[in-house]
Amino acid sequence: MSKPALPSSLEPLKLAQKAVSLSGMIAASKFVRTQESGIEVVTDAEVELEFGIDEDRQRFVKGSLSVDVEVTCQRCLQPMRLPIRADFALAIVFSDEAAAHVSKQYEPWLVSGDQDRADIVSPLEDELLLGVPVNVMHPEAECNAPNHYTASPTEDEQSEVDGEAKQNPFAMLADLKDKLS
Ligand SMILES: [Zn+2]
Repeated sequence: MSKPALPSSLEPLKLAQKAVSLSGMIAASKFVRTQESGIEVVTDAEVELEFGIDEDRQRFVKGSLSVDVEVTCQRCLQPMRLPIRADFALAIVFSDEAAAHVSKQYEPWLVSGDQDRADIVSPLEDELLLGVPVNVMHPEAECNAPNHYTASPTEDEQSEVDGEAKQNPFAMLADLKDKLS
């Protein structure tokens, strides 16, 4: 049932020329920068790629990447698993200048060096990193933060409740009675 591994180097010119669609897996271990930034890639990435040339003669690859990562919950600091899906449209360019002028619908994929062996993992990894939200937390009911209860008021709300209790008219009446007796 699992798909074949996607080669990490591809021939973008030929693939665009022939309008090839590819579908395959990229091993979790290939996402080195992601791991270095504290995001654990816990599944192999499922990747769909669709190469082509648009009406402006721009070579492109569009597609999606799906992978599960593990990040740190910012509330309880425990690991938290997140499914990431990144959709992308990359313009295949061969110079910084061309990269600076790609139309808005694309991110540039700057292919440098050997155009027959372009590394596809790096641009996909950029998309993956963009797709991981910052400041993520478990859903409230699943969070392990010690003083966190689903239905309890936050600290601010709690002090409001305390304040109200102090002004409870019956409590005030009791105070008054004490003073009078
Ligand atoms: Zn949490």
